[in-house]
Amino acid sequence: MSPAGPGAAAGRGGRQPGEVVLSVRGLSTQYVTPEGIFRAVRDVSFEVRRLERVGIVGESGSGKSALSLSILGLIDPPGQVTAGQVCLNGRDIRALRERDLQAVRGKEISVVFQDPMTGLDPIKPIGDQITEAIRAHQDVSRSRARQLAIGLLRDVEVPAAARRIDDYPHQYSGGMRQRVMIAIALANQPDVLIADEPTTALDVTTQAQVLDLLERLAAERGTAVILITHNLGIVAEFCDTVQVMYAGRVVERGTARQLFSHSVHPYTEALLKAVPRTGSAGEPLFAIGGLPPSLARLGAGCSFEPRCPVGHGQQVCVSQPPEPARFGGPGGEVIAECHFARQRHAAAAGPGGAGQ
Ligand code: ADP
Ligand code: MG
Repeated sequence: MSPAGPGAAAGRGGRQPGEVVLSVRGLSTQYVTPEGIFRAVRDVSFEVRRLERVGIVGESGSGKSALSLSILGLIDPPGQVTAGQVCLNGRDIRALRERDLQAVRGKEISVVFQDPMTGLDPIKPIGDQITEAIRAHQDVSRSRARQLAIGLLRDVEVPAAARRIDDYPHQYSGGMRQRVMIAIALANQPDVLIADEPTTALDVTTQAQVLDLLERLAAERGTAVILITHNLGIVAEFCDTVQVMYAGRVVERGTARQLFSHSVHPYTEALLKAVPRTGSAGEPLFAIGGLPPSLARLGAGCSFEPRCPVGHGQQVCVSQPPEPARFGGPGGEVIAECHFARQRHAAAAGPGGAGQ
């Protein structure tokens, strides 16, 4: 049994996630602009275990990237992290000076962004960029680092790696550049990799290849992955655990199994309905009515209330923020922030109760 208990991030293919490697507590981040203070991350807490694959989903603007940048200590003005802890291997990295944080970033925790060109220097050969990443954290000679870099390029299945290592980024395709970013991110065998929409810019076939690769290489290195995406199909394929973000908060969290079969939060249900299905060509896609709220003008109640088919106009939803409600079940734990969570969970579990 995993330390998290039965079913909790039990992993697929027999992987057994172990101890907590990343613990985020009460993290809050805001952007201060002339138009107002945008509360992009609001008191978010969660844990990630070794080898766990956590998906973070939510509409554009829900704070997914702000959350990942906050974890990495990469929020730039006008943004600021206003509260919280980010404990990596038991140490609060928010308390570190920038120099010490740089020693952690790329070694214990690393990131792959959506656009590989933001992470690659266009005027430097690929090989130099990989060897720099290696030598920033490992005491190896230039020639040894080059050997390691060629090995990494082979790992990410760049053809003719020994020759193409001296190419420049523009000589690689988008998919190949993203493989290079994965090679760099995994070069020092980090405990946690944050991949922020890593395949969104790629075509569907390349997307699947890159994700397969990421899955295999992260598992080989013992790396936990936080995968940010707006594609629930990808989450279903790849993730053990899912966190649904709405207006800066994680409104539902659970095992992928549990969430896809018995989502509790009306927003998660709406997202699931909005997934395009095969065979639905020509049918109109379900769209979630209305728009997410402005993060500069959040009301006192549940931020999904104006769009919520369940709670819209309900006094409690308008006036009070929902507390997190926790449920066990055969597929693992679910935590949902909804005033109607209990009724919804009982209804989803069907006759025979909540599956406790
Ligand atoms: P997501 O990644 O989920 O699409 P983001 O984390 O990028 O969303 O953004 C969350 C919110 O943070 C945005 O809706 C916006 O209000 C605010 N925000 C993000 N970046 C900036 C910025 N550079 N300046 C001002 N506000 C920002
Ligand atoms: Mg984003």
